[in-house]
Amino acid sequence: PDRATEIRALIRDVPGYPHDPIVFRDITPLLADGAALRDVVEAFARLCEGDDGHAIDIVAGMEARGFLLGAPLATRLGVGFVPLRKAGKLPPPVERVDYDLEYGSAAIELRTGTLPQGARVLLVDDVLATGGTAAAAAELVERCDGKVVATAFLLELDGLGGRERLSGRVVETLLRVD
Ligand code: 5GP
Repeated sequence: PDRATEIRALIRDVPGYPHDPIVFRDITPLLADGAALRDVVEAFARLCEGDDGHAIDIVAGMEARGFLLGAPLATRLGVGFVPLRKAGKLPPPVERVDYDLEYGSAAIELRTGTLPQGARVLLVDDVLATGGTAAAAAELVERCDGKVVATAFLLELDGLGGRERLSGRVVETLLRVD
């Protein structure tokens, strides 16, 4: 099998979690596999290298699994990392964006003054589903005077409208599933 297929096999499908009819994609087996984690980080890094790559100043990761992929990527690229946190975790002052979930709502925050003015930002998360989280994250970065150069995900869940939700933005995904 090719490497993408091997890495896909390290993402565990969990039907009915957190509730029916969701099939949760659990990336913890992938994170626990050193070669797979390295190859995923390397694949993200290649998106940002070379003449056709996205030139970025900083990586922003969504809590919590965006931290696990975004921080090693930032280290690999030699740039900084900024956490986009769930509401109430960061000390003030913060900027905040509220957004709707399938059930209820959520908010993410970024500490005011963390992003250099005009910073070119790569947004990273593990999974793109409806795109609501990433759309809110992009709005938050822009409210803090960053420029979202691209969004990057390990896994895109097809058919949930994520790409459409992020239309007009660059969306990079390493793997896709139906
Ligand atoms: P969205 O906002 O695109 O609907 O959902 C994406 C967000 O929820 C991401 O932050 C992602 O980590 C999380 N998420 C949604 N579904 C899954 C899933 O099946 N597996 C994992 N690992 N995360 C998910």
